[in-house]
Amino acid sequence: MENRLKPMDAEQLREYGHKMVDFIADYYKTIENFPVLSQVEPGYLRNLLPDSAPNQPDSFQHVLDDIQAKILPGVTHWQSPNYFAYYPSNSSVAGFVGEMLSAGLNIVGFSWITSPAATELEMIVLDWLAKMLKLPEDFLSAGQGGGVIQGTASEAVLVVLLAARDKVLRRVGKDALEKLVVYASDQMHSSLQKACQIAGIHPENCRLLKATSSTNYALSPEFLSETISQDLTIGLIPFFLCATVGTTSSTAVDPLLSLGKIAKSNGMWFHVDAAYAGSACVCPEFRHYMDGVEEADSFNMNAHKWFLTNFDCSALWVKDRSAFVQALSTNPEYLKNKASQANMVVDYKDWQVPLGRRFRSLKLWMVLRLYGLENLQCYIRNHIKLAKHFENLIAQDPRFEVVTPRIFSLVCFRLLPVRNDESHGNKLNHQLLDAVNSTGSAFISHTVNTY
Ligand code: PLP
Repeated sequence: MENRLKPMDAEQLREYGHKMVDFIADYYKTIENFPVLSQVEPGYLRNLLPDSAPNQPDSFQHVLDDIQAKILPGVTHWQSPNYFAYYPSNSSVAGFVGEMLSAGLNIVGFSWITSPAATELEMIVLDWLAKMLKLPEDFLSAGQGGGVIQGTASEAVLVVLLAARDKVLRRVGKDALEKLVVYASDQMHSSLQKACQIAGIHPENCRLLKATSSTNYALSPEFLSETISQDLTIGLIPFFLCATVGTTSSTAVDPLLSLGKIAKSNGMWFHVDAAYAGSACVCPEFRHYMDGVEEADSFNMNAHKWFLTNFDCSALWVKDRSAFVQALSTNPEYLKNKASQANMVVDYKDWQVPLGRRFRSLKLWMVLRLYGLENLQCYIRNHIKLAKHFENLIAQDPRFEVVTPRIFSLVCFRLLPVRNDESHGNKLNHQLLDAVNSTGSAFISHTVNTY
């Protein structure tokens, strides 16, 4: 049989593309009609779809009908105005069209030569964003540092941990792996623990130091210093400190300046995870939460969380890009080319785990160009204003309490336990959570308080 498949036929693309854009636009118009948290049971889709793929092509309309009838019921609507769980993952028209262009060009830009614009735009756009965040100049690509777009904050902390591990092992000898120690607060996102597992850091050397309500869940520099001293006494090698601006549970902000000085005086790599709250720091009135970032070796924020850039887009900056290259570079014959051999270009394959990489900077560039800094600042401020309003409503209601001071747009609240019975209080709060989420008209998520 003659093969009539034309994978990127321009006219078919135009037809399907227009229809798909209409479908998505209608989805956004009616998004509030869906239960925000999908209410399906596990395995629901197996009963609705055939056991194997079709032999013959289906019609596009038939596929769209299936999306409407079978897929959307199993979707949790992250872009719904009724979505309040975890952290935002905001899309935007600018982010969407950037993503569309990236899908359209479909390049795999691992080395400069594989698409010079992909590498160069990424460097430029991350320099722009670094300037918006008032990051120290050492993080800009003009010097020894620079920015890179990773898929997620988890990948960002993994690559910096690998760079830091190899840097210290070059100094102390590669047999010392079992002596290397990592520090963070117990409020640090679990991505650090996963990175340690992958990097071969011994689990007992991953110190997650308790942060309590006495510091508003920020890591105490004194506690850190004491722990490092104890570790040094028994011959261990402290090499990596991770601080967070805006922890996942309660948006706690670690004191970067004091922590960074401790890291520096002990020759440790200092990474700052501002995955969620970094976006707020483009507003001058919130930038002080990042004070002390001058001490950091690397800094990360997720543009895909609160910066209108469609998932995935995690911006990572380092002061010394050679640390990446020394830890992550490979140079097989089939990838050699004049520009790379002459050291004239950045090859982002050496700054990340996979080889292949998408043209993600397009969507961030679109967001920055089509909205501009002032609009982005207003957008952030409006979210914070709404959170403040909600916080006030909670504070005025005697049944509830605000559990931790609100800093950005997250409000941690709970139903107060009756007669100080904490375990009954926990049960009540779980019941409230389930009751709210089963309505489909709001989706909220939970954490637990460590005292
Ligand atoms: N760090 C912080 C502070 C987070 O809040 C999150 C996710 O919410 C992460 C890291 C992990 O993000 P990602 O999904 O991009 O790996």
